Amino acid sequence: MLANRLKTLNPYKPGEQLTDREYIKLNANENAFPPPKEVANAVSNLLNTNLKSLSLYPDPDSTDLRVEIANFLNKTGGVLANTKDAKSKLDFEITSDMIFCGNGSDEVLSFVFYAFFDDDKKVVTPEFSYSFYPVYAGYYGIELEKVPLKSDFSLDVEKMLEYGKNSSGMIFANPNAPTGIALSLTEIKNMLDNFPKDRVFVVDEAYVDFGTESALSLLKDYKNLLVVRTFSKSICLAGMRIGYTVGNPELIKALTLVKNSFNHFPVDVICKTAAIAALKSYEYYEKITTEIVKTREWFSQELSKKGYSVIPSKTNFVFVNHPTKKGSEIYEDVKKTGILIRHFATPGIENFVRITIGTREQMEALLKVM
Ligand code: PMP
Repeated sequence: MLANRLKTLNPYKPGEQLTDREYIKLNANENAFPPPKEVANAVSNLLNTNLKSLSLYPDPDSTDLRVEIANFLNKTGGVLANTKDAKSKLDFEITSDMIFCGNGSDEVLSFVFYAFFDDDKKVVTPEFSYSFYPVYAGYYGIELEKVPLKSDFSLDVEKMLEYGKNSSGMIFANPNAPTGIALSLTEIKNMLDNFPKDRVFVVDEAYVDFGTESALSLLKDYKNLLVVRTFSKSICLAGMRIGYTVGNPELIKALTLVKNSFNHFPVDVICKTAAIAALKSYEYYEKITTEIVKTREWFSQELSKKGYSVIPSKTNFVFVNHPTKKGSEIYEDVKKTGILIRHFATPGIENFVRITIGTREQMEALLKVM
């Protein structure tokens, strides 16, 4: 009854969504804060004044949303956290034909794999990065060249470029997950200079708003660059499933072709309304992002004082280990007290746990049990 291809599927394992008791949830890098009230107002206004819009299919091209995303990026320069190394400027205008929207960046990434990565050559990616990349590669029958991280867990850029010369493309998260370490804009530019111009180079900026320079400014000069982004982290809308990518219009057209061969209408009417309202609340997001960064720095210091090693993070999570306690033990002990953090049983990182930065109160509660 089942198709043979199911035998080789190896699905993504998201952070637990347990319901057996109430948990402080620090295991999926969701935002500690709710979206601004403008989002609630916009959604209830839609439902109260234009309920009929739910009877109709949404705009297949998400035109209004793409225009608002372009405005938002042009206004912010592409990052929200108010830190000196994160502020970036664009010296060109991002236009809506450079933007493709999907149902979470997971869907966008799936289309990226399908549209740009051939199965005749490997795709270069770090050994440890977003764990959905190997899942998509498996799904589409694309081989990955998984390049080990350096001993300090930073990307081995030289090796990645060496493999990149004869690859079908490159993909990594910046800052990387689950390590939280970021490459600078100069390093990304150097990678692009040394990467084949006829292959697509994907930078997944899911966590960029928490203190990393964005690669958006490089889009002007590198037509093979795609920057993937999400509303799930800094914009507090993981439950709505909205993601996008920014790149040259030819790449966007290819993604649109893939979308229209799969699901014509990915972003629904309510999600689109929420997302547009969110993008107009720039000051709110700048405030909470800065707050999360502050909590992260304080929490990292406090954990270090307790004997944990904390990798300096540029994200809304930290990756930590302890000299005597196993990662699985830390995870289990913390879970017993009603706090969920993330443990990966993957060899090489099995002694670490990944902890999402929540509110100051949540992190204080966690510190007590760690
Ligand atoms: N990229 C990275 C690096 C992530 O950690 C995540 C979140 N799990 C995603 C992409 C996907 O985010 P979403 O589908 O919620 O937009």
